[in-house]
Order: sequence, then structure tokens, then C-alpha cells
Amino acid sequence: MLKITAPFDGWCAPLDEVPDEVFAGRMLGDGLAIDPTSGVVLAPCDGEIVTLPQSGHAVSIRSLDGLDVLIHIGVDTVRLGGKGFDARVQPGVRVRAGEELIRFDLDLVARGAKSLMTPIVVTSDGAVLTNRRVAGAVRAGELLFEINGAATPRALESASAPAGSVTRAERALVVSLSQGLHARPAALLARRAKGMDASITLRAHGRATDARSVVGIMALGVRRGDELLIQADGASAPQAMAEMIGALEEAQRLDLAHAAVSVPAAPVAERAARPGELAGVCAVPGFAVGRATRIERREIEVVEQGRGPLHERGELERARTNVRLRLERVRNAGGAERQEIIGAHLEFLDDPGLNASANELIAGGKSAGHAWRGATRRSIAALEALDDARLRERADDLLDVEAHVLLALAGEARPMHLPLPEQAILLADDLLPSELTALDRRRLAAIALSGGGATSHVAILAAAMEIPMLIGLGPELRKVADGQIVIVDADSGTLHETPTADAVARAQSMVTARLARSAALRAAAVAEGRSSDGTRVEVFANLGSTADAIAAVENGAEGCGLLRTEFLFIDRATAPTESEQLTAYQSIADALGGRPLILRMMDVGGDKPLLYLPQPPEPNPALGMRGVRTALSHPDLMRTQLRAALRVTPQGIVRLLIPMVTDVSEIIAVRKVIDELNAELNLQGGISLGAMIETPAAALTAATLLREVDFLSIGSNDLTQYTLAMDRGHTELARRTDALHPAVLQMIAAAARDAKAAGKLVAVCGGVAADHTAVPILLGLGVRELSVVPAAIPALKSRIGSVRLPDCERLAQSCLALGSAAEVRSMVERLAGDGGNVT
Ligand code: PEP
Ligand code: MG
Repeated sequence: MLKITAPFDGWCAPLDEVPDEVFAGRMLGDGLAIDPTSGVVLAPCDGEIVTLPQSGHAVSIRSLDGLDVLIHIGVDTVRLGGKGFDARVQPGVRVRAGEELIRFDLDLVARGAKSLMTPIVVTSDGAVLTNRRVAGAVRAGELLFEINGAATPRALESASAPAGSVTRAERALVVSLSQGLHARPAALLARRAKGMDASITLRAHGRATDARSVVGIMALGVRRGDELLIQADGASAPQAMAEMIGALEEAQRLDLAHAAVSVPAAPVAERAARPGELAGVCAVPGFAVGRATRIERREIEVVEQGRGPLHERGELERARTNVRLRLERVRNAGGAERQEIIGAHLEFLDDPGLNASANELIAGGKSAGHAWRGATRRSIAALEALDDARLRERADDLLDVEAHVLLALAGEARPMHLPLPEQAILLADDLLPSELTALDRRRLAAIALSGGGATSHVAILAAAMEIPMLIGLGPELRKVADGQIVIVDADSGTLHETPTADAVARAQSMVTARLARSAALRAAAVAEGRSSDGTRVEVFANLGSTADAIAAVENGAEGCGLLRTEFLFIDRATAPTESEQLTAYQSIADALGGRPLILRMMDVGGDKPLLYLPQPPEPNPALGMRGVRTALSHPDLMRTQLRAALRVTPQGIVRLLIPMVTDVSEIIAVRKVIDELNAELNLQGGISLGAMIETPAAALTAATLLREVDFLSIGSNDLTQYTLAMDRGHTELARRTDALHPAVLQMIAAAARDAKAAGKLVAVCGGVAADHTAVPILLGLGVRELSVVPAAIPALKSRIGSVRLPDCERLAQSCLALGSAAEVRSMVERLAGDGGNVT
């Protein structure tokens, strides 16, 4: 029996009085609540602090006999981001009952929170509460309730090994991922675990999870340098262990690569606000003025009691199937960012941990909706209790998936149809990815959130949609009146809540000037790309979907220089069929309206693994089976893709690009298959074939490759990584992995020289093509096609139009002889200062 005492003075009440369904519905466990009158939280029993997030709004303590008790100060206080809370202990320390755990500013928290009512709940299963205090005044240290029962912390539920397991493999290791086990590596591990015929358990920090559960893995809270124990049980335990180790190795690469491409803007430092301003953090840079428009989320109501486990399980299954089908449809229609985010939501939807938890609640008599909400909120609470902002941000994704399923149970589809005024500045506590995508982009000028995270999925989407976004503005944002004209200066992290008429007029003219400039650039972008002295330079777009293609054409794309077809292949259980591929490619070709479509053969393997192509773990995937190497070792997969590509109409619109070429034999092998398929499909006329220059080997033997191909396209991202021997996703090396290093420029120069001699075109489709410092150098080296993300096209055309080719050629030759990328950059800048017209 364990006695739990009041952590502070206040008014004691049953949990039903907490204005939060999760606590009131006892989804996290049973207990009592206190409306506090003092601002010091004292330990309710002897024990060890298990979690105490940096935000300091909650603490959980494990008693000496293993029972977990959670104290959550107020409701919705996680949004305060730590403002008003001061933790006095850390996770891992042992405390005595009555010891001080957290101090909080009663006034400040009361103003920012939905309620101060503080639940004190036992989160371990099997606990029976007795001797409960009745409602009324309570003093710190007085008895609240007693607990009888065995300790089973909820997180451990799914961890037990199956009875009668044949073998066990066990391995402890230190996680070296820079971000720990966050969403992406968790997804990778879970996906690999699902394919194994073994029960795999991951353990860390005294918690455990089934390795097939993404949410469970994230909730372990594993950070860089933490120890992780992997246990595999079953006949294939050794293979399962190898699979997990391989997944972790691969996760390292994925994690770093993702950090390099997907994190929007670096958050600016928080600074003190001046009167009339709110200070926040920049999630997407930009500037906007408009009318404050609030969105209030409608809480979806669910009944608590079910109509029997069989019925409710069936209902949940039906709802999840509907949501899955809808998400898959939306995923295939969206841009690359949206595809990735929806992929994560699909992963959550099928998470075995979440589903087991929901089924358990259903078995206990709850309705499907109540159970699904209970299960997601349990996982959210586990994520929010972690001292890791990136993981806490995933709670939004879980909320999104929760809402999808609850609405499907009610027979409704997700998007809310929020009428936005012109130039709306959306104010909210937080925003879910599906809420953002349901809004009318043309009316949305900016987003301002009191909470939010700079690396949240909604921030990544906003960046892709080019909507300025401020986060972390705090509870004061709620005081901004609906309809008020406000200014969002995301670049400086400020929201002006009551700007003067003068300030609004100035802001309007700044916005007008910026809009006019980008409109002028867009209007000018309908013209073909040419340098100021008339040299033709094609400006193409890098695409991943039909939505990208539509945006590209609107921005003046003259074609697609790189269709990353791998988006069609990854994140699914089986390979796309020929007709699925043909539909996808044809739809992109149609959106391009007759412009050329350079379709890159799937660049998979290595850091883009496929579930249906299990590969033994590679010690160094970047130097292993990827690109054309994977295609050639899976001829069926390659033939299917090539057949689909050849069938796109009108014939000749598609040009094929081969990734990761190292020697001419690879091109000859692909060409042979194309010839066979041409005969099979009875097609007249050949297809234009190109080689990507991504390896030093390809750059230095371009002359040989050019005997077999019609054009070259330089993948500067990989060419830089392989020339400089620096991982393209390495965070610490990121500043030095610069394609303007003279060694990379020499590689490009070599390939361009050979292309010129052969009378064939050389393009650049890697990231350097959008770098305005690089543009004159690339043109000077002989590049005549640049392919970039759609949004970068108008400015790139303008940049090309500002340079003269003879100047570019002189500049390029000088750069080749320099010693470093920094010297190259400063030479271009110096010329700008001298008024040279290459810059
Ligand atoms: C490149 O390597 O520059 C390239 C365009 O290919 P990806 O970025 O898809 O590897
Ligand atoms: Mg590449």
C-alpha cells in the first residue's frame, strides 16, 4: 500500500472536474485533482523522478514499489513552453515525500492555461485507489489517496516476450544518431521489424516497446548517447537483430539527410518584445500584413460506452480503412513534403502499439471513438513528457490522425471548411497539417501560433507553401482581437499586435513592393531563359508529383529536368505496377503541357530502402547498391518502370536519365533493355537517354559515356559528396559540403568540355543550380540547362538574364584555379562589389 499526499495547498476535487476529457475520462489513469492555491509542487511520495520535461509543466515519479504517479500542472500548460515554471529536480534523481519538485508562477500560469485544475493520477495499470479524500480544502502533505495493486507501468505492457520463444538475441548499444530515435528512425525501425518473424522489444530509460510501434519507439525518449537494449525472440531472432542494427545504421543517414533538406528556417533567437509587439520564433521567413483570423478547433465528441467489443472493433477497423484509403489518395496528389508527412500519418494509423492500446480499452467496454482517443492521448502524453522538442512536435501528427479516425467513425471526412477573409493572418494555439492544407492558400497571408515547433510537419508544409510563419508567441496571442489588423515580421520573429495607421501603411507598401517584385519576376518568367547577351539557357524544374508540375508551369518552367520517380516506390509494401506508374507519369506529362519530361529511373537502395527489396545491411550504403546498380540487379523492377516510361504519350516527350552512373557498361545494359522493350511495344523512334554525373568516375570518363547517351545531367549533390568525401547529410560538415569547391568545379568542367566536344547538352539538376553565386560559373563552364525547385524558377531566370556569357567564362576559368569554395564565393562577391556584371 502506498500513500499519496497532496503536492500543494488547494481545493481537492474528483478528476471529473478537470476540463480535459483525457483526465476526466481517466484515460491516463485514476486519481484526484487539486485547484492549487500555492505555487510549489512537492513530491507526493518517496521515489525517483521518471519524467520532467524541459517545459516543467508536469512531473512523474516512480514509487519505491514501482508505481508511477503523474502530476500535470493545469490543463494545456505545455503550450506555455516553460514560461512560469521552474523545475527544481531532474529525471533520475531520488526524492523524499514533501521534497520540492517544481515552482510555478500561479498568476502567470493561470492567465495562460485553460485551467489550473491539476490532475494527480496513477498511470500504472492494476492500481486500486482507496481511502480517497473527499472534495474540499487540502493542505500540502495531507493524504490524497492510498494505492493498492501491482505495478505495471503502461509503457511496459507490450514488452513481454512470447511464451515458448525459441531463441533470444540481445544487444545493448549506444545510439549515435544526432537527433536520437525521433520520428524517421523510429519509422524505419518499425517498418523493418514488421517484416520479421520474431518479436522484437526495444528498451531504454526503464521503458520498453514493441519495435513495430513507431509511437512506442519515439516514447522511449532515446537521445544521442543513450543506451538502447534490443531483444529479439523467436526462430529468426539473429536475423531480426541484424535487421535492427542495419536499420539503425541506415537511420543515421536518413536522419541527417532529412535534417539537411526538410528543416525550414533556422529559428531566430527569442528576443524581448517591445510594447505592442509579441516576440516569437521564425518557422518560415517572410513578411505580411493582414486581418487576424482565429481558428478554433471543434472538439469531436465521442460517447464513452461501447455497444460490445465485437461491434466496436469492427467500427474502428472500418474507420481506419476509410482513413487509410483517403490518406493514400491525398498523398499521391501532393508535393514531396506532403507525401512524406502523410506517409508518417499512415504509419501512425497502423501503429501496433496504438491499436493494441485502443483494443484493450474496447475490451474494457469503451466505444471505438473513446478507445481511439484514449490510445492516442496516452501516446501524446508519453511524447509530451519527453525532454525533446522534436518528439513533442510529433504529438500534433497524432492529434491529426486521431481526428481523422474520430470523424470517419462519425461518417464525416476531415477537412474543415474555414472561410478566410482576404489577406488572413491565421492565429491559433497550434495547427495540424491537415488543417493547413484545407485552407485557401490564396487568402492566407501568414500564420502566427502561440505554440508550435520550427521543425513540426506543419512548419515544413508552410515552408513548401511559402507562407510566413511565426511560432511560440505565447498565451498573449489569445488576446489579439479577431479582425484586428496585425503585421507579421517572421524574419525578425515579431508580431505587431496593434500597429499604428502609419505602421500599417508602411507595411502594406513593403508587402506590395515584395509582391510586385515577385509578380514581375513571375511574369517575366514566361519568357525563355537567356543571358543578357542572348545565350539560351533552359530553365527546368525538379519534380516529384503532378502538384509540383502544375506549380512549376505557373512559375515559368520550360520542362522537367529531374522527375524523382523514387517517390512512387518508397514507403509502400509492394512495387508500383506498370499501369500505376504510367498513370503517374502521364499525369505529370499532361500537367507539363507538351514540355519535355526528364524522367530519372528510380534512384533507390542505399539511403532510400524499399520494403519489398530487402537488402542485407551495408556498412556504407552511400557506396553500395543504389541508383542504376539497384535497377540492374532487379531487372523486373527496371523493365516495368521502363515500359511505363516508354508508353507515355506523346511519344518523345519523355527523356530518360540514369542515376549514379560509374561506367559505360551500365548505360549499355539499360539501352539493351530499352531496345527490347521498344520492339515489344512496337514503338518507332528511340528515346533520348542521359547519364547523371554524380560520381567522379562519371565526370572523368564523360567522353566515353557520351558515346552512348544524348545528354548529361550533373547531380551536384552527390557529385560534391563523392568528390569531397563528405556525407551530403552530415550536419557538422554541412557548411563545407559546398559544390563551389574548385575540385567539384573541375569535375563539372571536365564533363562540360566533353559534352561540348560531342555537341551534346550538359545540364545541372543538383541544388547548386539554384545558387545565384554559382549560376555565372556554371554558365561559364558550358552548362546550358538548369533544373531547380519550382519556386526558384522566376528568380533564377532573372539571374541568368543579368549576366554576360564572356564574363561568365572568364570568371569560371579563374575559379577553377582557386583553393577553396570560400575563395570562389568571395571572388564572385568581389566582382559584385567592383560592379562586374556577372553578379
Ligand atoms: C544530385 O545528386 O544532385 C541529384 C539531383 O540527385 P538526388 O539529390 O536525388 O540524389
Ligand atoms: Mg543524386
